[in-house]
Amino acid sequence: MIQIGTILVTLALSMALAAYILRPFQAETDDIETAIEERVAELRQEDPDEAQAQFCTQCGRRLGPDDRFCAQCGHPVGEAK
Ligand SMILES: [Zn+2]
Repeated sequence: MIQIGTILVTLALSMALAAYILRPFQAETDDIETAIEERVAELRQEDPDEAQAQFCTQCGRRLGPDDRFCAQCGHPVGEAK
């Protein structure tokens, strides 16, 4: 038979373990967000064409640098500028 004292001790240990596991995760949240922002900045620097990519104002399809019309819906590129 399980005694109430055993249950309380087990419960207390579980809560302590949970706090131990969650604490470092919460502490690293800001670091993760900073790392993501840095990685995005790196990607933009590595691929300037990606940052300058145009998208169809009609359907949202990505356009090539030499495209004059959207390949998907035929909307003229740059007309809406
Ligand atoms: Zn389009």
